[in-house]
Amino acid sequence: MAPTTELKNTLDFALSLDAGDPLKKYRERFLFPKHNNREVVYFTGNSLGLQPKTTSAYIQQELNDWSNFGVEGHFLAKNPWMPYHELLTEKMAKIVGALPKETIMMNQLTVNLHLLMVSFYKPTKQRYKILCEAKAFPSDQYALQSQIKFHGLDIEDALIEIQPREGEFVINEEDIFAEIEKNKDTLALIMIGGVNFFSGQVFDMKAITEAGHKVGAVVGFDLAHAAGNLKLKLHEWNVDFAAWCSYKYLNSGPGGVGGAFVHEKHLTNVDLPLFAGWWGHDKQTRFLMEKTFVPIQSAERWQISNAPILSMAACRASLDIFDEVGMDALTEKSRNLTKYLEFVIHEINKEKNNCLQIITPQKNRGCQLSVVAHGYGKALYTKLITHGVIPDWREPNVIRCAPVPLYNSFEDIHRFSTILKELL
Ligand SMILES: *Cc1c(COP(=O)(O)O)cnc(C)c1O
Repeated sequence: MAPTTELKNTLDFALSLDAGDPLKKYRERFLFPKHNNREVVYFTGNSLGLQPKTTSAYIQQELNDWSNFGVEGHFLAKNPWMPYHELLTEKMAKIVGALPKETIMMNQLTVNLHLLMVSFYKPTKQRYKILCEAKAFPSDQYALQSQIKFHGLDIEDALIEIQPREGEFVINEEDIFAEIEKNKDTLALIMIGGVNFFSGQVFDMKAITEAGHKVGAVVGFDLAHAAGNLKLKLHEWNVDFAAWCSYKYLNSGPGGVGGAFVHEKHLTNVDLPLFAGWWGHDKQTRFLMEKTFVPIQSAERWQISNAPILSMAACRASLDIFDEVGMDALTEKSRNLTKYLEFVIHEINKEKNNCLQIITPQKNRGCQLSVVAHGYGKALYTKLITHGVIPDWREPNVIRCAPVPLYNSFEDIHRFSTILKELL
């Protein structure tokens, strides 16, 4: 879609955009929930991505090898379980702009945040504060608060939360930089969501990392809503650590295995504190079962337990698709889809008294638009569901719509607009 293309909110026009979409065929690789025998308009890939049709075969392979080999599957399975997680590393690393050795799929997101903070939040008497965004995802808030308490510090004193300015929905990035500067002697850690889950605001991770490092703080990101949504360059941006889940944009299924990044520069430091387990121990000597922990000099060091193979098999099915498409093509389609969604919302507004307000910033966004429908409560969301549209609802009044480039179409957006207009 050329930047100058004149958009129209008609079915024919939406279908013409689909016809010109180089990623059109990928929709057929996914399983869609149905409503009245028709695929729903699924706008919740930011919450739980759809199932690739190949997922069951990937899992079945491991079930078969388990039945055929029992414990020996660790070595004899088609994809031996012992190093199974390594099959995911390179493809995952590409998606987040990391080196393979900086990347590991393991555990779950919040668990990984904790494990990484054990290594990277090391408060001293002088430098102990954590800076985060206000209204961070609750799990992140609990993780940060409990880390602070764990170190015997006072949450009120140690946690700096950046709020949107009065009457605004998104954070002014200048306020982040000002706060970093203001706390330059006491700031230990910056831990922000790369994309705010509520507003869809994307933060300038490169600039925040630079600003944090300039004052001597460690910088980590929660990439739950960024991984598989945006083009990330974690290595190049010099981010210290990051964690994400794979069941949102990365389609690994409910509760799928999490991901983590630790910058190369930290990997040779064998003195970093960490909570250790046998899967983080040097592979050559792991089964000697000796007393002394010898850390792997890659992000694998933070693994504690052996890998959840069935969950990893599901994750692999999706990562293989991502690898085929590439983040360049995905983000290009993402921009077009999101622009079209924004356009149809503006068109509806012309007829409906400007009742819809998009709070996601136009410049800093991925494929999620958070919309406030003024004068309508949760009932509007419920009605959308009963009419075959699945967005999601966030208290107090936001409907989040995420047209996902891997499987959503321009036609989906047109259908959404038709249904929404009827309901308003
Ligand atoms: C989805 C999400 C989580 C969920 O955490 P889990 O540990 O995977 O249950 C945490 N933080 C953010 C920012 C999220 O978007």
